[in-house]
Amino acid sequence: MAIGVCYFPEHWPQSRWSRDVEQMAEAGLEYVRMAEFSWGVLEPTRGEFDFEWLDTAIELVGDHGMEVVLCTPTATPPKWLVDAHPEILQEERDGTVRAFGSRRHYCFNSEQYHEETERVVTRMADRYADNPHVAGWQTDNEFGCHDTVRCYCEDCAVAFRDWLREKYESVEALNEAWGNTFWSQQYQSFEEVDPPRHTAAESHPSRLLEYYRFSNDSVVDYNRLHADILREANDEWFITHNFMGRFDSLDAYSVSEDLDLVSWDSYPTGFVQDRLGSEPTPDQLRAGDPDQIGMDHDLYRGALDRPFWVMEQQPGDVNWPPYCPQPGEGAMALWAHHATAHGADAVLYFRWRRCLEGQEQYHAGLRKQDGTPDRGYEDAKAAASDLERLAEGSLEHVDAPVALIHDYDALWALSEQPHAPTFEYWDLLNAFYSAVRARGLQVDVVHPSTAFGEYDAVVAPTLHLVTDEVADRLHAFVEDGGQLLLGPRSGVKDEYNKLRPTLQPGPLTDLVGATVEQHESLPAQLETRLARVESDDVVDSDEAYPFRTWAEWLSPAEANPIFAYDTDGIEAGRPAVVRNAVGDGGVCYCGVWPESDLADELLESVLTRAGVDRCERLPDGVRIGARDNYLWVTNFSSESYRLECPTGVSPVIGGRVLDAFDVSVLEGDQLEGLGVSRLD
Ligand SMILES: [Zn+2]
Repeated sequence: MAIGVCYFPEHWPQSRWSRDVEQMAEAGLEYVRMAEFSWGVLEPTRGEFDFEWLDTAIELVGDHGMEVVLCTPTATPPKWLVDAHPEILQEERDGTVRAFGSRRHYCFNSEQYHEETERVVTRMADRYADNPHVAGWQTDNEFGCHDTVRCYCEDCAVAFRDWLREKYESVEALNEAWGNTFWSQQYQSFEEVDPPRHTAAESHPSRLLEYYRFSNDSVVDYNRLHADILREANDEWFITHNFMGRFDSLDAYSVSEDLDLVSWDSYPTGFVQDRLGSEPTPDQLRAGDPDQIGMDHDLYRGALDRPFWVMEQQPGDVNWPPYCPQPGEGAMALWAHHATAHGADAVLYFRWRRCLEGQEQYHAGLRKQDGTPDRGYEDAKAAASDLERLAEGSLEHVDAPVALIHDYDALWALSEQPHAPTFEYWDLLNAFYSAVRARGLQVDVVHPSTAFGEYDAVVAPTLHLVTDEVADRLHAFVEDGGQLLLGPRSGVKDEYNKLRPTLQPGPLTDLVGATVEQHESLPAQLETRLARVESDDVVDSDEAYPFRTWAEWLSPAEANPIFAYDTDGIEAGRPAVVRNAVGDGGVCYCGVWPESDLADELLESVLTRAGVDRCERLPDGVRIGARDNYLWVTNFSSESYRLECPTGVSPVIGGRVLDAFDVSVLEGDQLEGLGVSRLD
């Protein structure tokens, strides 16, 4: 387990570098990432490379016993390149060209840009192929940041037509698969198909989904171009890419197929402001949301089913969210521990020193602009020291009893037809994910192609686009004794984003033992409350279970209703949640978007049936993660808590009192009997 930092030596006079690197080593850092965005410095004019500055910086890092992660510098094509080849620039849906002057302004389908990339990456790879201090490479930077996965230029139009020809073979097959008789959208040849540029009303949903898949494949191909060149130069390097938090347009599973290591960039106090479906609480503004960050940790761990890295960890206040509060005391160390508990093998803070120039002047570093330590420096140092005590080498991979199914096809389809302003795919996943995490359990976030048999329980918050093959495998999982918790809007669409001709949940109907009679999306003014159904089908209104946004009226066949609408509306008394026994296992189908009490209630019954040990329900800001015979108890709140430890479990870092934004690490793996109570 290692702590590291991202460093831009080219932003500082060379006379400063050795002191910087010395201070990194003093803090216990082990990795230094460099050369990101450095194309303009490495190749100031076409064909004239200057590697000496980077050679010197790498040597300095190596001399201090640390390793270097290099980046291909392609996220920032320099001015001379853009001027010589303006056709490499991206185009937005309305035809606006993304001009030089920031970053990520290139098109993934530009053949010219592929050639330029090949040229610069080959030169760098050859230069450092035998350098003993370079451990691995990051390809580019944050593919898709600033909404740049999808480009609508003419190069993309040509590539899209080729992609469609390859997939459909005839345009008649495409018309049939998409259902292009609707609004007279038939094509007579592939030549007629354009990217879904700006239109009067919304674009055809099948065309949009295919464009999103095509755009994603374009990034996969572009990333592979980097990976192939780097592997050819030195096959012992690891190759990674730094993905982003809760990121919509890039399928991490498919890009990761060409990587050895998955990494991502974590900015907790920014993410709660610009990508969480609710107003952030004061504690979230100081430390982020453990489940929002946790789900990304688990997604990126799951992409290759191996330990991941946080390539950029928020070091203090940052420059890009609407507001930039200072993180809580200790939060920067808390995030490193939390990442480790979720399976990270390294956490690199971004950046070493607050920058004097350019767009990120308001972004903190571990050191202030005058070189003195900033708040993050002390936290990074503390995290490095703590984690070194726990493990000199690597920690074991996380072993999760529960899988949560996540699918970019569903995300893309639902993002175009949410059917309610508050229907957001990640937030729906989070409603179920949080319930599992609140019981102290590790969760693997997995693609639908995963082997479900490895898990005691599977949670599928929505299987909106489900193939018959996935439905069959889920059926087999339950038949063999598995427990499945399935959420709303499942079994709705086919793989082309067309409504299935059968009633929802389509191919999952036998498994669920019920069909969906009606569905509705609900604004806040309408009642959203369920109650438990007693054995004689009478609704027990003593305890109300709220839900939000989405409601389905279920019509059970073999299944038993367990919750029904407890309202005065037309849905009153209709089943909303059912349970079905299938073979040796069972399935619970929840036809609403559950609030936390309902999600916990349903999950509890699934975990009990699956025989999964868990702890008492944890407070919102407190989470537990088990890894390698350690239990990390992390507190993302400003409250203080007392820990009750089961026999054989004791703190090795921190103590039995958990202060605000604090962590305790316990030795042992027993969750049952572990409790957290508020200190008054
Ligand atoms: Zn393009």
